[in-house]
Amino acid sequence: MEKTAIKLPPNFESYDQARQAGFLRMKELKEKGARVVGSFCTFIPLELVYAAGALPVGLCAFTEEPIPAAETNLPRNLCPLIKASYGFALTDTCPYFYFSDLVVGETTCDGKKKMFELLNEIKETYVMQLPFRRTEQDVAFWREEIIAFQKKLESVFGVTITEDDIRKAIHLKNHERQVMLRYLELGKLDPAPLSGYEMGTRVDAGSFSFDLEQRCAAVEQRTEEILADWEANYKGKSSERPRLLVTGCPNAGVREKIIRTVEELGADVVAIDTCSGVREKIELVDENDPDVYHALAKKYLNINCSVMSPNESRREYMSKMIDEYHVDGVIEIVLQSCHTFDVEAYYIKKMVTEEKGLPYLNIETDYSQADKGQINTRLAAFLETIDK
Ligand code: SF4
Ligand code: SF4
Repeated sequence: MEKTAIKLPPNFESYDQARQAGFLRMKELKEKGARVVGSFCTFIPLELVYAAGALPVGLCAFTEEPIPAAETNLPRNLCPLIKASYGFALTDTCPYFYFSDLVVGETTCDGKKKMFELLNEIKETYVMQLPFRRTEQDVAFWREEIIAFQKKLESVFGVTITEDDIRKAIHLKNHERQVMLRYLELGKLDPAPLSGYEMGTRVDAGSFSFDLEQRCAAVEQRTEEILADWEANYKGKSSERPRLLVTGCPNAGVREKIIRTVEELGADVVAIDTCSGVREKIELVDENDPDVYHALAKKYLNINCSVMSPNESRREYMSKMIDEYHVDGVIEIVLQSCHTFDVEAYYIKKMVTEEKGLPYLNIETDYSQADKGQINTRLAAFLETIDK
């Protein structure tokens, strides 16, 4: 098969285009009275936001423009995601932050939780205290935090959230998880039916459509299109392109310079283990649990982000992914100064190289383009080490 990267569909929107297009949609929704909750992390139980009749919007930032402003108050030696997110708020240049009636954070990594204290000076920031283990005691504590968050939503929006509202929202979000997972699991097909660049962008950019059902329908339609194309044109053929798994920090801010580049160099990114990739979608909220808060607490604490300690479940799941997606090599992306992923990389590398016998590349980077050339060279050299 040819070495060129898999083509993007004609109507493909980049992450930045989708984010921009969402500004107008959000403005119109606000004018019609929409309630908006801005959040930063996958651990926030968005089911409660939907149950409050509000719209969630992600405030994690993936661009370098607001970073110099952020560095006037934050140390330079901090993860670019944290600096960019704060910088947008400080410079009042993120319409989603501006339109948020409530901003909610969570105590994940140290940098983020301390940044929320500064953010609170700009706009009230409600912080959920996330435990970092998964014992019954932690589940009970997180359950209480979820109930407290519900009370906060009720008081901000002057609404009463019933158990029935929460159950409906759980059902809706579970459906979304299944739709997204089915799309992401297209990467298991061999040869790869779509690019990892498209996969990651579509999942991240989907959050700017604000209509969950519409978002699911669009992804389902794309999944069917890809499947039909694969059956007709690729099934049964072999590909020389190495199949890669990308893991680590949220990568939307470096997707162009790493994922797009490695695909242009001749590989296919078939599996994405990040919090917007499969990591949050592999486990549903148990709809049969008589205690909805317990069901939410259990599901969210099981997200295997590196802020949890210990976090063996990430390696266990990745090991399964490597087999199921027929992975030939792993790239770990660590955003500069992200200590939790950086330290956990020790175990990931060990699992990939020793247990699986596969090549592993760790790229520590930020949102600037300064290391683009160097990354290019490292990616090309990495692909040379893959036996395909
Ligand atoms: S990587 Fe972890 S801490 Fe960071 S946004 Fe994702 S889930 Fe939250
Ligand atoms: S990438 Fe790492 S340092 Fe940055 S916000 Fe997420 S967990 Fe924190």
